Amino acid sequence: NTIRFFSEAMQAVVDARAELELRLRAAIAEDGFRLFYQPQMDRDGRIIGAEALIRCIDPQGGMIPPVRFIPLAEETGLIVPIGEWVIDAACAQLHLWQQQAGTAKLTLSINVSARNFHQPDFVARVRTALERHRVRPEGLKIELTESVVVGDIEATVLRMQQIKALGVKFALDDFGTGYSSLSYLKRLPFDQLKIDQFFVRDMAQNHSSEAIVRAILAISHSLELEVVAEGVETQAEYELLLARGCEMFQGYLFGKPVPIEEWPAP
Ligand code: C2E
Ligand code: MG
Ligand code: MG
Repeated sequence: NTIRFFSEAMQAVVDARAELELRLRAAIAEDGFRLFYQPQMDRDGRIIGAEALIRCIDPQGGMIPPVRFIPLAEETGLIVPIGEWVIDAACAQLHLWQQQAGTAKLTLSINVSARNFHQPDFVARVRTALERHRVRPEGLKIELTESVVVGDIEATVLRMQQIKALGVKFALDDFGTGYSSLSYLKRLPFDQLKIDQFFVRDMAQNHSSEAIVRAILAISHSLELEVVAEGVETQAEYELLLARGCEMFQGYLFGKPVPIEEWPAP
């Protein structure tokens, strides 16, 4: 009654995976996730919103970053309850912000995996969270990546329209990597596009990256999409983006993702 693997290295990988899966199951059962908040700025350097980024509390201390557990959560289906927790926790925070004059206009963006977005009850989940926390829906933004669209574009458009009818907005995350299909951009009702940090990082040294950023900005402006540059780390990157007409910025230059207790007071 034992299973043995033929290499120790393979066994180690399997063990680590199994341990992480157990950790995720425990975190779902025991309130083991936290949202961190990273500021988004306008051209004048004012905070206009935040992106909520999930972390898993590591019982040995510290936080497990999403790159380490989101892929496994997606594979195992655990992303479904995790994603539901994210929507609820984000709406609870957005409600608190909307109650106070200094933060009432902030938007809050959440990341939603393809698997969650295509759940039959996803629209109802969003509606329920908005109602339960008495949130003004225009403050909530859902970030999707292209992986959501792959497969059935008609179904995606329909679902996005149902959620937009609630008043919630959409952003297309990590634009520039992947297919970056212009026909998707035209057909899907996005409000905002986020330029992937790779291009922001690369544009100062690399002429083609700079040209791509300029092209993304031009397309977004003509499609009347807001644009956020992600991963802005240096003043030089910020100034280059400003000069090219970018309106919104996010990155370590302005602030790392922080727990809500460390969110800058208005
Ligand atoms: P993302 O949505 O593209 O989020 C941006 C990532 O870039 C975040 O990493 C953020 O901390 C990081 N970042 C922001 N500014 C800078 C910068 O100036 N320099 C550098 N080097 N990095 C910067 P994080 O928090 O580790 O999240 C990684 C990815 O995990 C996210 O990428 C998103 O795809 C996924 N993720 C995070 N939270 C959630 C969630 O609640 N649900 C789902 N489904 N995915 C999530
Ligand atoms: Mg994102
Ligand atoms: Mg991104």
